[in-house]
Amino acid sequence: MLRVHSRSAVEVYGAFSYKRLGGPGEQLATSLNLDQVSEGLAATELLYLRNTELARAQANVLRVVPEKGTHAYLVLDRSIFHPKGGGQPSDRGKITSPQFAMEVKRAIFHQGVVIHWGRILNGTPSVGPVSCELDWNYRYMVMRRHTAAHLLDHCLAKATSTRVETTDSWLDSPCYVGYKGEPPSSPSLELAQRLGEEMINAGAHVKIDFLSPEQSKLVLKNAPNFERVPRLDEIRVVTIEGCDPIPCGGTHVSNIREIGKLSILRAEQMPDLTFRVHFSVES
Ligand SMILES: [Zn+2]
Repeated sequence: MLRVHSRSAVEVYGAFSYKRLGGPGEQLATSLNLDQVSEGLAATELLYLRNTELARAQANVLRVVPEKGTHAYLVLDRSIFHPKGGGQPSDRGKITSPQFAMEVKRAIFHQGVVIHWGRILNGTPSVGPVSCELDWNYRYMVMRRHTAAHLLDHCLAKATSTRVETTDSWLDSPCYVGYKGEPPSSPSLELAQRLGEEMINAGAHVKIDFLSPEQSKLVLKNAPNFERVPRLDEIRVVTIEGCDPIPCGGTHVSNIREIGKLSILRAEQMPDLTFRVHFSVES
């Protein structure tokens, strides 16, 4: 059974994930105040936190805000759409009912609520039951990249014999993880890649736990972003078997074998003594 998250937890997951919000800034087609869309509504139940493989689900539309006839903002009571956050780009997909169909172009997290923005394909959106469906190919690619990013932290720490500290990440294009410090040498990057390949070939389960703050303090002491872990009633902790547990609100594959071929492409020196490791995953 799905537990309902407290509003505070949901809000913090929106702003916080394994990595700080990353990626290029995005502009909506309108300057609509999102407060108007979310105002007075209960926090959206985030279905992807407990079941990342849910590609389809039923939900109820709580509010419709039309935009110039062709687009609309929909708020649902529950959502499988992961909004942009924590370095993870927004899910895409479709919301349909007998009355309408909408292509979801973007999910936005605002004040505890997931706002689904997209193009109306037919009919007129209205309050009531709907079917939701993700663009699964895209989501699954993001899940593979996201899991690879966690594995990269582990392999980079091993290859450089240091505790890595992440700064940001982006899992679309470009695809990278940011870290504090000087960029690693080429031999260190090659070693990290080899370690990653070996681990992917061997396979390892990816486990999700919801822990109390006391429990999480014990297991997260080596997490690469431990300092940024927010205070919550319940903390979502992701563990690749054999690696340190990491607090994270994103979506991952269930076994690292699913990542496929991981390639570390290059390290890029960034301002303020930080660097990015660019990588790709291929089937
Ligand atoms: Zn994660």
